[in-house]
Amino acid sequence: MSTVSNLIFHNAKHYVTSEFGPRKTISTAAGNTSTYHYGTDYGTSGKKLTQYAIEEGTILSCGTASDGAKYVWVSYPRLNVKMLHYHLDSIKVKTGQKVTADTALGTTGKTGKSTGVHLHLGIKKLSGGGYIDPEAWSKNEYKAPGTKPATTTSSSSKYKPGTYEVTAAVLNVRTGPGTNYRRKTYSQLSADARAQVKKYAGYSANGYVKGMVCTVYEVNGSWGRTPSGWISLDHCKAK
Ligand SMILES: [Zn+2]
Repeated sequence: MSTVSNLIFHNAKHYVTSEFGPRKTISTAAGNTSTYHYGTDYGTSGKKLTQYAIEEGTILSCGTASDGAKYVWVSYPRLNVKMLHYHLDSIKVKTGQKVTADTALGTTGKTGKSTGVHLHLGIKKLSGGGYIDPEAWSKNEYKAPGTKPATTTSSSSKYKPGTYEVTAAVLNVRTGPGTNYRRKTYSQLSADARAQVKKYAGYSANGYVKGMVCTVYEVNGSWGRTPSGWISLDHCKAK
């Protein structure tokens, strides 16, 4: 699937069920759909998958539309787009909330004019204009965030962004700065991290392993944000 839909579903299995553009009207319990499809539909094999924000942004609005669909609009200033997540089963964010790549927006559902569980993804430019084709935008215009070190650091922290070596045997990589955030599994680490884990541990450990070196872009208390997620810097040494 496209880069953007993989980011939204954190690589969980999904597939395009209806492309952007003209299509036949579909009859649903909530009414008929229009003859132009202003987004891309992604099926999830009936699963209520979690949908995530794709990078730093803000929840513009969320709630229930007049057709009964639960939705979330997220703005991404760096990308100059806002994204509409439609037909959600549940919403996990609030209007005005700041989000990052690991913020759960809601779960995939079939609220509103829908015949099955799917995500309808709509994209508009923040600079104006109507809906654009999400798959085409992902392929032709989307660019991943740069890897330059961030300057944001908590003034009260003893740590600074930079390069760190892992000193713990296995160090959990989490979706946020704290032990209340979800642990990532081996397959959810970056390609570079997976290669290092294999090299230093010799097996597919679910986290960073002793001897690995990683870049910390941002510090929050004793936690550091690396390409694969957040780690406790108390179990690392600065290089
Ligand atoms: Zn749709």
